[in-house]
Amino acid sequence: MVHDLIIIGAGPAGLTAGVFARSRKLSALIIEAGMVGGQLVTLYPDKGVENYPGCTMTQAAKLAQRFKTHAQRTGCEIHENERVREIATKEEHLVVETDKGEYEAKAVVVAIGIGLFKPKKLGVPGEDEFADRGVCYKLPDKDRLVNKRVLFVGGGNSALEMALIAKDVADTFVVHRRDKFRADESIVDRVIASNIQTIMNAEIEEIGGDDKVDHVAIKAGNPPVRKRIDVDVVVINIGFTPEVEYLEKWGLEVENDQIQVGSDMRTSRRGVFACGDIVTYEGKYRQIVTACGEAATAANSAYKFIIKPYWA
Ligand SMILES: Cc1cc2nc3c(=O)[nH]c(=O)nc-3n(C[C@H](O)[C@H](O)[C@H](O)COP(=O)(O)OP(=O)(O)OC[C@H]3O[C@@H](n4cnc5c(N)ncnc54)[C@H](O)[C@@H]3O)c2cc1C
Repeated sequence: MVHDLIIIGAGPAGLTAGVFARSRKLSALIIEAGMVGGQLVTLYPDKGVENYPGCTMTQAAKLAQRFKTHAQRTGCEIHENERVREIATKEEHLVVETDKGEYEAKAVVVAIGIGLFKPKKLGVPGEDEFADRGVCYKLPDKDRLVNKRVLFVGGGNSALEMALIAKDVADTFVVHRRDKFRADESIVDRVIASNIQTIMNAEIEEIGGDDKVDHVAIKAGNPPVRKRIDVDVVVINIGFTPEVEYLEKWGLEVENDQIQVGSDMRTSRRGVFACGDIVTYEGKYRQIVTACGEAATAANSAYKFIIKPYWA
């Protein structure tokens, strides 16, 4: 069987590409390495998303579920827990090879987000020793934070939004190495107005404890002074190292670990399109709404590629 379109990744971009492919009556198989929903379910299921048009505020996991239901109702076939390893060529078609099988397609959309999420590490003593014993890289279930002292490291949207979730149930600290947060102003305002303790111009020097984390040592201020903060949980949120070394192997032109695309979301490889966090172009803004917009374009470009001659 030859699929019209195979979409790699079932985050907002991949699921939207599926919806738009189906509206043009292309058969669409979406292959997802982990859980459907992408970062919304893997990294911040409990967080509120407040900037997706049409939803003033929705929980990330619920928004992901809506994306999934929408794709399924339009007739997309979705494979979960199946990782794509290779995109080969067979005569005029592409063959997507996974850890479970091989699938032939007329065109492919790559929507793999930031790859398979490898969080950046601080590289300080105690970080590896206390991994999963108090040190983590995503927000633990809120229930596990009740009455705990939780310290977040980072100054972007992600760290601050997680802190805003934790603050309702835990004593919450944010440590940032600069004098200003780089998160959106509306989020920073909410942090400042809350009971979260922010420690600026500060760096973690060590994470310590006995059988689990009980403190961090930080160097803060100007001139820097060393001090100890007693905490139970340290959530490190300083970005992700993309695990996307296979992109070049897939024959795609890459810049800074991201796929270069044209305005029609075409990649350097014939029949392969891309969208979402994995693509780069001037002015790229990594958000759900932009991922979805690019996905609509990618699916439409794939349609034009498949339906030859395209007459519009
Ligand atoms: C903490 C945090 C908070 C955020 N908050 C917001 C917000 O409030 N509003 C907003 O608009 N944006 C927000 N974002 C950004 C938003 O989540 C991303 O822009 C969006 O998820 C990008 O969608 P995507 O489909 O391109 O990628 P992803 O969501 O990363 O999905 C890609 C999918 O591809 C899969 N995949 C990867 N490699 C393979 C492979 N080889 N084979 C098969 N599948 C593979 C992954 O498992 C993943 O499920 C936030 C991000 C973070 C980290």
